[in-house]
Amino acid sequence: MTAPYKAPLRDMEFVYYELLEGNKISQLPGFEDAETETVKAVLEEAAKFAENVFLPLNQSGDEQGCTLEDGVVTLPDGFKEAYDQYTEGGWTGLTEEPQYGGMGLPYSVSVLIAEMLSSTNQSLSMYAGLTHGAAKAIHACGTDEQKNTYLPKFVEGTWTGTMCLTEPQCGTDLGLISTKAEPQDNGTHKLTGTKIFISCGEHELTENIIHLVLARLPDAPPGIKGISLFLVPKYLINDDKSSGERNPVTCGAIEHKMGIKGSVTCVINLDDAEGYMIGEKNKGMQAMFVMMNSARLGTGVQGMAAGEQAYQGAVEYARDRIQMRSLTGPKHPDKKADPIIVHPDVRRMLLTMRAYTEGCRAMTVWIAQELDQLARNPDPARREEADDLASLLTPVIKAFNTDTGFDSTNMGVQVFGGHGFISEHGMEQFVRDVRIAQLYEGTNGIQALDLVGRKMNMHQGRLLKRFFVPVAKYIAQESENAEMNEFIQPLSTAFTQLQQATGWIAKNAPANPDNAGSASVDYLRMFGLVTVGYMWARMAQIALAKQAGDETAFYKAKIKTARFYMQKLLPQTASLLATVEAGSDSLMDFDEGYF
Ligand SMILES: Cc1cc2nc3c(=O)[nH]c(=O)nc-3n(C[C@H](O)[C@H](O)[C@H](O)COP(=O)(O)OP(=O)(O)OC[C@H]3O[C@@H](n4cnc5c(N)ncnc54)[C@H](O)[C@@H]3O)c2cc1C
Repeated sequence: MTAPYKAPLRDMEFVYYELLEGNKISQLPGFEDAETETVKAVLEEAAKFAENVFLPLNQSGDEQGCTLEDGVVTLPDGFKEAYDQYTEGGWTGLTEEPQYGGMGLPYSVSVLIAEMLSSTNQSLSMYAGLTHGAAKAIHACGTDEQKNTYLPKFVEGTWTGTMCLTEPQCGTDLGLISTKAEPQDNGTHKLTGTKIFISCGEHELTENIIHLVLARLPDAPPGIKGISLFLVPKYLINDDKSSGERNPVTCGAIEHKMGIKGSVTCVINLDDAEGYMIGEKNKGMQAMFVMMNSARLGTGVQGMAAGEQAYQGAVEYARDRIQMRSLTGPKHPDKKADPIIVHPDVRRMLLTMRAYTEGCRAMTVWIAQELDQLARNPDPARREEADDLASLLTPVIKAFNTDTGFDSTNMGVQVFGGHGFISEHGMEQFVRDVRIAQLYEGTNGIQALDLVGRKMNMHQGRLLKRFFVPVAKYIAQESENAEMNEFIQPLSTAFTQLQQATGWIAKNAPANPDNAGSASVDYLRMFGLVTVGYMWARMAQIALAKQAGDETAFYKAKIKTARFYMQKLLPQTASLLATVEAGSDSLMDFDEGYF
């Protein structure tokens, strides 16, 4: 029995148009077609597609998984047909450039669609998701010929892309990559090596698969500065762009894993496989970062998508399941017991899931709209601002959304009691599926190091100021607004604590870098809590202004969820500040032998 799911279209539209600047996005050059009516119609169609095509395959895909026989991977029943419907519906080209056949819609719209697809079937959504990332890297760093060859096929959905970084000896530390690329007289390269954990690395969904592979040239300097990026097609490409001879890039094995069982995870062997360099020699990481940043946001989307899905399942169950009476006397005296939704602890879990999910959606769409500004705004100063905010908040979105998304799926199981542990209800699958999102695309620990070690200091703290200045201004501006006091006060307290933690790290990390390392995860969590708190204060303000005549209680529920967030979730920043300021001694002054 698949857990119920209805795409949260009302909330998506609220975030996109009422909280954020969706109307301004359609005024940017190139996004003129993204008028409100078009965007709403696209989201409605995507919702139907996700609910009717992706959702019915989620549980069966998990049960069946993928198999490998004689080098051929078979995906769960129905995946090929669903993918074909996806491409026939034009979904693969939604945000790609019109010159390559795409519809050129804003990235921020695709984030909402990606959420619906991931909520309904995280595994299946990955085949197209990685292809978008590959397209972005080729678009940013490829030659015109490469763009004209690959991008139209990605738009059509007839080829998919992969991202081949990881090797047995290296995951986080890509400087250890050993796959070799030998230059050939005709300008191509021959690649040899083994990649592991490659998502969607082999399948029969499409006529070709284009691997983006990190490898090392013979004269490359050691470490991260000696890595180049190559396009390695499964089938070599004929002059007429049809698929030709098989390239020796093959699937040696597939992994048996905890979740996302419908997304095949492959060992990919390259045995003198033909590849084409993309971007500059030894600058592969720069090109790959384009793909990784897009994939990091995409992973953040998976986190909130899982939270939404688990929330919906848990709410329905909590209304139905009757156990015990309310502490304050029967609420449903006609029944033998009250539904569990009356109990404070069940409400704590439901509201936590809701407050994180809606808050993360607001934060994620905000940054997605900033990326649209970065892509299209003619004003360089506005583009720089957008770039700074997106760079700063990408690791926060990746880690905070997936940590809270995982917690939400776990609470979803808890709301179901023992029934949550039973596969039939579908709740335990969400926990298993979303768990990977905290690990891949750089573990959440690595996201925290990126925030503290790189983003915090970048351009002499300019990125931080891009966030701190508007938040401080907003708090100051609303501090006299009595109606907003209950939201602004907690936000102000948490924001002050975040600034204090920032100051502590800036002061204590230079003398002892372990202080930054030990503070990083707590600091990122504080950052996420405050950013989402800022979103909640602004959402509450809009809802307060619109609550009169609010027949569906949408705005009333927003205000009450904001109140819950401010009172019950945001104050975590106080204890996080204490742990940041406790420094690294208790971690590092523990002899390795004591473990
Ligand atoms: C299902 C699945 C799909 C995947 N898909 C892909 C894919 O499509 N393409 C691809 O290239 N890879 C893929 N990966 C690989 C994934 O990105 C890596 O597993 C991940 O980046 C972590 O690398 P690792 O497993 O080698 O862990 P390690 O790098 O060995 O890290 C182990 C632990 O040490 C911590 N750690 C490491 N270095 C530091 C440090 N400096 N400071 C603090 N902590 C540190 C990490 O946070 C982690 O907790 C996938 C993995 C899985 C399981």
